[in-house]
Amino acid sequence: MNIPDRSVTYNIEPINLGSESCEALTSYFVRLTQFHALKPIQLLSEIFHKPQISPEVKILYTREYSRINGMDDPAKKMISALNSLTGRKDLNQLTLEPWKNIIRRGNLLRSKLHFCEYCFLEQKAKGIIYIPLLWCVKPVVICSKHKRVLHNFCPQCKKQINILSLSGIQGYCPICGWFLGDIQKNEIFLSTSPYDEWMNRHFAELIKNNDRPTNLLTNNSNNKQIFPIFKPQNLSKSALINLLANKFFMDKDTLQKWGNGNHTVPLYLLLQKGYYANLSPFKQYELHSEVVPSRKEILIHNFYYDQSSFIEQIQIIFEINKNRIIKCPPDPFVLLGTTAEEMENSCPECHEFILDSFTVFSNNLWCRCLAAMNKAISEFPKPTSIKSICQETGVTRRELLFISQDLYDSVISNFAKAKYLRRQERKQGFVNEAISKINEIYKKQGYITDEEIRSCLVKPGYLLDPIIRIPIMNHVRALITSKHDDIR
Ligand SMILES: [Zn+2]
Ligand SMILES: [Zn+2]
Repeated sequence: MNIPDRSVTYNIEPINLGSESCEALTSYFVRLTQFHALKPIQLLSEIFHKPQISPEVKILYTREYSRINGMDDPAKKMISALNSLTGRKDLNQLTLEPWKNIIRRGNLLRSKLHFCEYCFLEQKAKGIIYIPLLWCVKPVVICSKHKRVLHNFCPQCKKQINILSLSGIQGYCPICGWFLGDIQKNEIFLSTSPYDEWMNRHFAELIKNNDRPTNLLTNNSNNKQIFPIFKPQNLSKSALINLLANKFFMDKDTLQKWGNGNHTVPLYLLLQKGYYANLSPFKQYELHSEVVPSRKEILIHNFYYDQSSFIEQIQIIFEINKNRIIKCPPDPFVLLGTTAEEMENSCPECHEFILDSFTVFSNNLWCRCLAAMNKAISEFPKPTSIKSICQETGVTRRELLFISQDLYDSVISNFAKAKYLRRQERKQGFVNEAISKINEIYKKQGYITDEEIRSCLVKPGYLLDPIIRIPIMNHVRALITSKHDDIR
């Protein structure tokens, strides 16, 4: 395929550029290929310098897809390729790349499509279906326009759909063809929570300012870019950090880093904490140090004020410490920044509530891990790996092993066995394919050379593998013998 170096004829306009509903780069990419009647996989393999066919490559792509909308290598490659292809300079705004120095990389982007069917329906009426960048950001779970929780699978066939549509058509399920904007009758929909709205609003704000991140940032005294909340107004720098650490239930050192312009904490975590403290990182506040309440006081206040958000708040802290909780359960009160004694003296009710919540949390955590390992084993011949269980539960291998050595070992050996069987199956496939090619050649010529036998394999080197070589050579020998028999 010949792609011109720089051609404005390849240019199409990104949708809603500069607004919070700005198109994602993966979506733009798909529309671009559609516009020029190319297969997405063709252009992908050109850009990422990878062969088009092998299944391994497809898996690799799936991992890289999501990162195309992000801020590291795959995004950079795609941005520069499409910029030069279209003659544009602004395609980085279809990703989170403008925030690469501010938001920590890592697991922020989705590889599976999450969508609002009402948005798809409206888009269809307007004639262009696309995927907004906001839907690709993991902490965003709702459509704020339609007040819906985003769907994460096809309502018809219940399968998950990749963010980057290899079929080249967006808004339709690539598996069953269902239009994802078809509103289901009697659909049960989940209403959105204020927490969801908060997350959505902040990430929307980021995307809206993709052309100029400085709109949302300010400089600290060392001229480093920081979020305004870390800029002291009426307090000294250290008093501000102390106050925020207390309100956010975070340690001072971590917050200090943000204040210094080292953004080592994921932004969503800061937003999560900010939600419960009712403080947005994007704003500068006039805070007063004399009213700094202690952790204990904040806990008791929240306990009486709103119990459901109190539970969420302490669970976040337990969640962060879950690996410690599995192996040697720490004192839950210490995790929360107070002590059991202090809490019991001030508020026995809250003390008891925290103890109970902690027990429920750790029991639940064990059950989750056991269930995940049991499920993995039952999935044979396509079992989940221990690595995926770790990712899914956030629990490390060491802790899973601690929970149940037997289950852990079974997961590992099952996975290895399945992998072995798949490999055998693949090799059998190579053998069958080679044999039918050999038959063809032999039928045509009445003989076959070693060179031709080798050329019948996907890779000539496969012949070194006895599992492939022996059946093939046996077959060739049988062919030759049967011919000799015929002559006799
Ligand atoms: Zn919507
Ligand atoms: Zn479907």
